[in-house]
Amino acid sequence: MERTGNAMPLETALAPVADRVKHLNRRYRNRAAQSVLEHALHDAQVGRVALVSSFGAESVVLLHMVSVIDRTTPVLFIDTRMLFEQTLSYQAEVAAALGLTDVRTIRARPETLAAHDPDGVLHQSDTDACCALRKVEPLERALAHFDAWITGRKRFQGGRRAVLDFFENEQDRRIKVNPLAHWRPEDVQDYMVNNRLPRHPLVARGYPSIGCAPCTSRVAPGEDPRAGRWRDQEKEECGIHFVNGKAVPGPAPRQEEEVEPTSVIVTDTGFSPDDWAHGFHVPEELEAAAGAPALALDLASDTDPAVLAGRVDGVDLIRIDFPSFADGRGFTLARRLRLMGFNGRLRAHGHVIADQYAMVRRAGFDEVEIPPDLARRQPEAQWRRRAAWRAHDYQSRLRGQA
Ligand code: SF4
Repeated sequence: MERTGNAMPLETALAPVADRVKHLNRRYRNRAAQSVLEHALHDAQVGRVALVSSFGAESVVLLHMVSVIDRTTPVLFIDTRMLFEQTLSYQAEVAAALGLTDVRTIRARPETLAAHDPDGVLHQSDTDACCALRKVEPLERALAHFDAWITGRKRFQGGRRAVLDFFENEQDRRIKVNPLAHWRPEDVQDYMVNNRLPRHPLVARGYPSIGCAPCTSRVAPGEDPRAGRWRDQEKEECGIHFVNGKAVPGPAPRQEEEVEPTSVIVTDTGFSPDDWAHGFHVPEELEAAAGAPALALDLASDTDPAVLAGRVDGVDLIRIDFPSFADGRGFTLARRLRLMGFNGRLRAHGHVIADQYAMVRRAGFDEVEIPPDLARRQPEAQWRRRAAWRAHDYQSRLRGQA
């Protein structure tokens, strides 16, 4: 997969960012951080992706995970020219130790600095303008070559981060991936200890969160770890998670998600609400869930059915995700599951359009689960016209079943 070139962004050839984010969050919602990251680096729905790292106090966790999965992943390091010397040396040390082969240092253009902050004192009078100049604009330029970027933000950091999902829609332009969204502080520490990762030298000197030297101070025991950033100012973020200098709307709170219109189930008899209320599992949870009544599985379209061989006997319902209507892997997976002898309910889920209903049924699916916005665009009448799907199915007509 091309991740680094200047070719046309994949997003122009894919479903809108909002739709992909919704699918990705559904698809990977039960996965661990490493699994989310691995899929983010390989899932075509995410596109060309880079890790953005400050090489700060906790950055080494994601850097290590990326190095294990694919050390050629582009890593963008913003050098504001205001960083601690220790950060610069730590950056070089970590990149070498982990074997990262594509670390790109990005900086403000010299002419821009000369025009707006020739003496390097803008941070004393206007930290927002300084961050915009030294961080936001250079990062925006670098990210123009990518469809998605990976951040190390976590829910426990509070504020707007408290409702982070694994995948975020960045103003319908890019996807932000937050593999560590659900990690707790102790998870971060455990990972660093267990993997014997090098620590930023300033952590031991009282800096649990590290940014630019003029804007980072020591933190006293018991203080919030980020209390040393822009101390005594209202500012909490450098601006790279803002748009045009303004806070962007955060992810919808959980309560709002729960009252969203629900999906619609399409069968040969038309639309109906989803009658499945028992939740879904992913393949790796199969063992733990074995024996539970009414077991259902959620499968990505690229799932290798070999991992399910001999393990689908007690499964009542398998739902296969269709991240885009042009993605045919779900049809192949359904056929292979039927060939393996799976005779429970098989559901196509996501971006399936009415014109594909015959193909869906022929592949062995019993039903289609579509999102409410698609149900609005393609109302029940459109689907019901395909209810006699064999009549629309060339293969069936050839077999004389139409
Ligand atoms: S953190 Fe401080 S020095 Fe660094 S870019 Fe922002 S305002 Fe400027």
